[in-house]
Amino acid sequence: MSGDGPGAGYLALAASGELARRAAALEALLRDCTLCPRRCRVDRRRELGSCATGIDPVVAAFHPHFGEERVISGRHGSGTVFLANCNLACVFCQNHEISQRPAAFRRAAMTTAELARAFLALQAQGCHNLNWVSPTHQVPALVRALALAAEQGLEIPVVYNTNGYDSVEVLRLLDGLVDVYMPDLKYSDPEVGRELSGVADYPQRAREALTEIFRQVGDDWVLGPDGELRRGLLVRILVLPEGLAGVEESLRWLAGSLSPRIAVSLLAQYRPAHRVSASSFPALARSLSGHEWQSAAAALRRLMRGDRHQVQGPPRFAY
Ligand code: SF4
Repeated sequence: MSGDGPGAGYLALAASGELARRAAALEALLRDCTLCPRRCRVDRRRELGSCATGIDPVVAAFHPHFGEERVISGRHGSGTVFLANCNLACVFCQNHEISQRPAAFRRAAMTTAELARAFLALQAQGCHNLNWVSPTHQVPALVRALALAAEQGLEIPVVYNTNGYDSVEVLRLLDGLVDVYMPDLKYSDPEVGRELSGVADYPQRAREALTEIFRQVGDDWVLGPDGELRRGLLVRILVLPEGLAGVEESLRWLAGSLSPRIAVSLLAQYRPAHRVSASSFPALARSLSGHEWQSAAAALRRLMRGDRHQVQGPPRFAY
């Protein structure tokens, strides 16, 4: 990507030594873990908190991915790094084989040097970006590996692909380091977040996180020559059956409190998965209806501005 517009933000931080200082500041948070709003306050060198993850990076898979939003996958793919485990416990997790089976990954930890080599391998395969999927609980190791890889020629942008349950303190340490933020905005009702993801304050924390992210990158986009996003914000909203995601209220908050020009990716791919069954969570035990999708898409058209929204409905759900 050299010579094709602005470089990744972390390159300047690496050159000044600031990237290594940020890694150290993030690592310090692991000793009494407050990396995410759960604030488990465990020493991750010896104990496990809710995310069941120690201090070494645990990666389920890394490879070029062509199924993300068009501006993320581009022509050559997004360099996805799927982090194992998660700081949330969503009953419908569409990725539960990776996020909710810590025992399966107990012996899969890598060193940060190995993780840095994985980043470089994705760049060598032509990927447009490094896409950290569910990075929140492993961000110290990711940033340490980024510093190592930058010394060895890494230069593609970093995408922070998060569930949105992030700490503002941690996000401040990522200012200028992350180029593209892709946070979820899962719910607008705290009671739904408690029941479906196991945290009682999801809307409040996700909105605080988004406010900080917006402060860093705003609502403008910088695109590369293939139309790939080089810098900016894309908010993901997975539409759930029975209005459980509270899409309209989330959009109203985004438009009114931050900006109506923020780009939104509205996702229709919900399927019953993981702990969802007709007896456990009956409201979620089916796919989205056409009417539910159309209502969410209409709210997006009504409340938000701009033409950068990414809408991934199946063909029968025209936007
Ligand atoms: S990152 Fe893990 S251990 Fe740390 S506060 Fe969050 S869930 Fe708890």
